[in-house]
Amino acid sequence: MSVTIPDKLENLIGGRLCPPADGSYLPSINPATGEQLCLVPLSGPEDLEQAVQAAKAAFPAWRDMAVEERAEVMNRLADLLEENLTELIRAEVLDNGMTWSFASSVEVPRGAQNLRAFAKAALDFCRPRTFSQPHARGYVRHQPVGVVGTITPWNLPLLSLTWKIAPALAAGNCVVAKPSEVTPVTAYLLSTLVEKAGFPPGVLNILHGTGPGIGSLLTRHKDVLRLSFTGSTATGRLIGMACAEEFKKPPLLEMGGKNPSIVFADARLEDAADCVSRAAFSNQGQVCFSGSRIYLEKSIYEPFKKMLLERVEGYKPQDPLQESTRHGATVSEPHLKKVMSCIELARTEGAVFLCGGEREILPGEHSKGFFIQPTLLEGLSIDTRTNQEEIFGPVATLTPFETEEEVVELANRTEYGLAASIWTEDESRALRVADALDVGMPWVNCWNLRVLETPFGGFKNSGNGHREGVPDAMEFFTEKKTVTMPAGAFS
Ligand code: NAD
Repeated sequence: MSVTIPDKLENLIGGRLCPPADGSYLPSINPATGEQLCLVPLSGPEDLEQAVQAAKAAFPAWRDMAVEERAEVMNRLADLLEENLTELIRAEVLDNGMTWSFASSVEVPRGAQNLRAFAKAALDFCRPRTFSQPHARGYVRHQPVGVVGTITPWNLPLLSLTWKIAPALAAGNCVVAKPSEVTPVTAYLLSTLVEKAGFPPGVLNILHGTGPGIGSLLTRHKDVLRLSFTGSTATGRLIGMACAEEFKKPPLLEMGGKNPSIVFADARLEDAADCVSRAAFSNQGQVCFSGSRIYLEKSIYEPFKKMLLERVEGYKPQDPLQESTRHGATVSEPHLKKVMSCIELARTEGAVFLCGGEREILPGEHSKGFFIQPTLLEGLSIDTRTNQEEIFGPVATLTPFETEEEVVELANRTEYGLAASIWTEDESRALRVADALDVGMPWVNCWNLRVLETPFGGFKNSGNGHREGVPDAMEFFTEKKTVTMPAGAFS
C-alpha cells in the first residue's frame, strides 16, 4: 500500500488517525500553482490533552523496552519511508514548492537516514557506562525524561521532523510533534505508517495546527518536559521565554542564520563558484545555513562575479515537479510577500541588482505560483538591513574584502552564528579563519557536507547553546544518572 494525500489530513493521537476535536481546518496551498492541496487540522487544547495523556500512558513500556527492540521499530519506520520514497518526494514538492531534485537528493531521503542514525546510536548511548576507582565504583546512564514536544519549520519538513523525533524516541521518550502548518503533508504521511512500523499507541503523536495556537499550548503544557524547536529567531525567543516560566522545561532552540561564503583569491574558483551559488540558491534560499552573504577577495571580485552570474542562469524558476528544475517556488504567498519586501528594502538601501529582483510569472497552471528570480546584489554596506537580517529567500549580497582579518570581522558582524563556507587552497588559513568565525559550523571548500554523527547548531542568536546531531540530541532528551557505591560494596 502506498501513501496518498487525502483532502483532509488528520492528527495522530494514541495510535489513531483522527480529525481535530472542534472540526476546524486550514487550507494547505501548493506554492507552485496557488491552488489548495488539502485541509490541515487546527488542533486545540482537547487534542493536546489527549495526545499528552496517550504519550504519558505509553511512556513506561517504551522506556523499559530493550533498546534493540526500540531500534528495530525505528528501522522499520525507516524501511516504510524508503518503500514510499517516490510518493513522499512528490508530496513534499506539491506541499512545499521545493524542486524534485532537492527533495529526492537531500530532503526526503534524510527522513529514513535520521531514524536509522539515531536507532543505531541509541544501542551504545543507552548502555550504562561503568566507572571504577580505588574508593568507589558505579555507572552513569542516560534516562529518558518522559513526554517531550517538537516544533518544526516548513523549509525542510520531513528532514526536520525526523531529526527531532528520532533522538527523542531512540532515547526512550514519547513524543508530541507539531509540524509546520504551512507544510504538514509529509508529517501526515509518516503518521499513516507509524502503526505498521510497530510503534505502540501513544509513543509518537502528531498534532497539526498553527504556531500561536497548538504550538504555544504545547510549549506551555506542564507534562511536556522537553521542547525542541527549529524555526525563526523571533519565534525561538518567544518559546524560550515561555519555557523559562516552567523551570523543568529547558528548550532546544535551532534558529535563523545569515551565513557568509568567503572566497580567497587562491581558491579553486570554478569549484567555489558552483558551490557558492548552490549555497545561496538551493531550495530557493530557504535553508537556515544558506550562504546569503558572499565575500570575495578584491583581486578576484569581478571574474568571480561573472562566474556566479553564469551559474545563476541555471536557477531559472520552473515547475518544481520536473526533475531538471533547479529553482522551484517560494513556500507561501505571505513568504513571497516578505521576500519581495526585503528586495524592495535593498533597492531603497542602494543595492545594485546584478540579476533578479522580480517575481517570476510562469505560464499556464503555474501562473499563480509563488516564484521569485534568484537575485544577486552588490554595493551594500555591512550594516544595511539587507546584510544583517535573514531574508530566507533567493537573495544574496556580494562584498569585496582585502585581508583575512577584515573578512573575519565582516563575517562576524551579525547577530547570527550558524554556518559559513571558506574557500582557499591554503590549509593553515582555512583553519585559522574557521577558528576565528563565531559560527557553529564552518565548512572548508564545501557547503552542506553533513556527517550526522557531529554536532549541528549555531552560536549567538542562531541557537541557545544546545546542539542536535548524534549523540547530542539524545543528550538533550535525557537526564544523566550517576549511581555510586563503595568499591567493596556487595563483595
Ligand atoms: P517560524 O518560527 O515561523 O515557525 C517554526 C515553527 O514554530 C512552526 O511549526 C510554527 O507553527 C511554530 N510557531 C510559530 N509561532 C509559535 C509560537 N508562538 N509558539 C510555538 N510555536 C510557534 O519559522 P518558519 O518560518 O517555519 O521557518 C523558517 C525559519 O526557520 C528561518 O528563520 C530558518 O533559519 C529557521 N530554521 C533554522 C534551522 C536550524 O537548524 N537552525 C533549520 C531550519 C530552519
